[in-house]
Amino acid sequence: MLVPKMRIDIRPLCDKHLVEMEAVSVKAKMGGSDEWAWPAFRCFMQGCARSFDSGGYTTISNGSIDPASRNFIGCEEGAMFIESVQGDRLIWRCSIAGCERSRTTDRALSALALP
Ligand SMILES: [Zn+2]
Ligand SMILES: [Zn+2]
Repeated sequence: MLVPKMRIDIRPLCDKHLVEMEAVSVKAKMGGSDEWAWPAFRCFMQGCARSFDSGGYTTISNGSIDPASRNFIGCEEGAMFIESVQGDRLIWRCSIAGCERSRTTDRALSALALP
């Protein structure tokens, strides 16, 4: 599978807390029992398991990605991350290297209601 290159110089905001996430290597099981590790961003608020990678925002619980938790806004090639908050609006930016596209959504679209 060809995975478009995610920029590593980005500073995504947690879609639940709207605080800056930190770059980490996330480990999770992808369907089977094999554990995979890949570069991602993780929210460090206490009790928050949100992470962001090239597939968008997800919650990792018990070492597995919860598919129902996925929050994906993207352009053709990849996921967008929340770059900043401007009043009631969220500014999203494409995470793929070389793509400068952005979009604006209502703040209510963030995953504030997620567990
Ligand atoms: Zn968070
Ligand atoms: Zn893009």
